[in-house]
Amino acid sequence: MSSLKSSGLRIKELQVEYKSGQLALGQMNLNLPEHAIYTVIGPSGSGKSTLLRAIAGLLPGYDGELLFNGKSVHDKDTLIGLVPQNYGLLPWKTVRDNIRIAMRIARPGSGGRAEQEAQISQWLMSMGIADLAGRYPLSLSGGQQQRVAIARAFAILPTILLLDEPFSALDAITREGLQQIFIDNWQAHPATTLFVTHDVEEAILLGQKIIVMPSGKQDVPEIIDNSAVFGMKHEAKRESGAYFEQSKVIRKVMMEKW
Ligand code: ADP
Ligand code: MG
Repeated sequence: MSSLKSSGLRIKELQVEYKSGQLALGQMNLNLPEHAIYTVIGPSGSGKSTLLRAIAGLLPGYDGELLFNGKSVHDKDTLIGLVPQNYGLLPWKTVRDNIRIAMRIARPGSGGRAEQEAQISQWLMSMGIADLAGRYPLSLSGGQQQRVAIARAFAILPTILLLDEPFSALDAITREGLQQIFIDNWQAHPATTLFVTHDVEEAILLGQKIIVMPSGKQDVPEIIDNSAVFGMKHEAKRESGAYFEQSKVIRKVMMEKW
């Protein structure tokens, strides 16, 4: 059976360049254990979205290997949920339809109609948007659209969950509320997760480890253990000494790498 070493998401010598020959992502190696959540932080243009797009299978090509439990992540039994930077909702479909379509594509023929509708309602409720089921995405605020996109990603019960700056458009208070809702949902359904953010605070509040991307493509990412903060109750993190210490560590690495 698969050894501990090969379990989870394994990124081996991943490198992405676009046709122009310009590097979009310098070389990256990472082992993300199954059911772990790591946050990714880096300056604009450091390849964060490119990394997620490579894993999600949205790039025409890349160098290196992307494995989940020893097999290609693009293998059909690894289901990947992506929350893209622009939410990726279908504007001509209601909120409920957006989620239903994703579920049907991800798991065709699973469950009866009534059961599926109940699951959709459950996910909307868990994200605090039960009342928006019949609305169209463009009639919603950015924060509401983000909740729908996250509900949709969770609803397919993905093996790997990828989030690309999902809370970037939100004010501080809304963001804090959604971080709490997100972490509650994640703890109930701990998909193997990469969470991209450009916010240091968010990286520390949500990740077991924090991957700091370099600005120079010749440099490698720095991976920082964050288990001291991760192990705390979410509500207590922000005020803790461990959080304060960690933000000093991250800022120091950022000064060196960015
Ligand atoms: P980030 O998400 O960290 O801001 P991206 O992954 O979007 O960074 O981009 C990394 C680099 O790749 C940038 O230099 C960007 O200009 C370049 N890039 C992104 N998408 C494309 C594309 N489709 N064609 C060419 N270059 C691209
Ligand atoms: Mg990006």
